[in-house]
Amino acid sequence: MENVPERREPTLRISRTHFPVETLGPGRRLVIWSQGCGLACAGCMSRHTWDPLGGADRTVPSLLGLWRAALARGADGLTVSGGEPLDQPAALAALLAGAARARAEAVAPGGPAAGREIDLLLYTGYEEGEVAGDPARRAAVRHADALVTGRFRAAEPTALVWRGSANQRLLPRTARGRARYREHLARTESGPRLQMVEGEGDVLLYGVPGRGELAALERRLRRVGITLTGASWRP
Ligand code: SF4
Repeated sequence: MENVPERREPTLRISRTHFPVETLGPGRRLVIWSQGCGLACAGCMSRHTWDPLGGADRTVPSLLGLWRAALARGADGLTVSGGEPLDQPAALAALLAGAARARAEAVAPGGPAAGREIDLLLYTGYEEGEVAGDPARRAAVRHADALVTGRFRAAEPTALVWRGSANQRLLPRTARGRARYREHLARTESGPRLQMVEGEGDVLLYGVPGRGELAALERRLRRVGITLTGASWRP
């Protein structure tokens, strides 16, 4: 009998997914948070995503099923954040390539998102040069329309939308990305930048907080008798 090589579906270790998110890129988006980050930025609000053994494995086809469903429900884009997505470059490459194919099908005439503008945005703590200089990371970002790059530096706050510190850069990479993000490159936001979602026994905050926003939120909650325990931004 002929030996048929086993073909495993690409799998991404993820922290969670959510749709719609309105604080991590333009419009209403599906967000996939990867699990595992070794960059350990001081002040990171997502320490729960650091452990590479945390979270859960999801096959790329199952994540693409979520993306197709989001497209049918009016998604304006896909954001992949973390954790550090580029620590799983092969699975990320498969995810973004599949997401681009699904988008092409959805926006075609007769598709569920016919004629709509839809982009793929990737957050990474790596700097632009650390992405460009590594073949696996470079291949992984091939289908991303825009990147937000760079470590979070708590000492360099910024009001720029979708960035957590002033050193982080929003980098359009495709014609679609340039058209979509041009107006946002220097746009600032002085109001709340977090979306609060009720989880199962917890509260989830989606977005990139402005300076002092997390502390102000904790103070507001305390005033109504709620004290946060196990906040993901505390060691
Ligand atoms: S801010 Fe991002 S890159 Fe930095 S430790 Fe947190 S998850 Fe990792």
